[in-house]
Amino acid sequence: MKVALIRCLETEGECGGRHCFQTIENNEGAFKEIEEEIELVGVTTCGGCPGDNVEKKVKLMVESNVDAVILGSCIKLGTPIDYTCPNFEKIKQQIKAVDEDIKIIDWTHYETFKEVLVDRIKTTNLNNIDRFFTKGFKL
Ligand code: SF4
Repeated sequence: MKVALIRCLETEGECGGRHCFQTIENNEGAFKEIEEEIELVGVTTCGGCPGDNVEKKVKLMVESNVDAVILGSCIKLGTPIDYTCPNFEKIKQQIKAVDEDIKIIDWTHYETFKEVLVDRIKTTNLNNIDRFFTKGFKL
């Protein structure tokens, strides 16, 4: 499954994206029901408030045949700056305006370190336990 990530421009200076990337790689959080391999082919921002510049970026994603557009948890949950995007619905509408059928995954990881860790423990089984040994508990 090919995906591309849109993140909040306001958080760019505060966050390197590690939680989103690890969540995707580990099939945790918003991705725990997805069994196929997830290929992250692009990362961009919303373009800044008031979130009116998403369409042209999504057009490029669609041209690259992405199956889903992901919105980082910074947008819906306001991580890590504790500011939830007031333009969340407008951003989603712009994505649908480009491709009505494209899948939108509108968050990535849980809000707090504790929730992320609990989720990782819950989604680990004997088939994927090696991720603790290869990646440790890095969040
Ligand atoms: S429009 Fe929303 S996602 Fe984009 S910079 Fe502003 S608050 Fe962040």
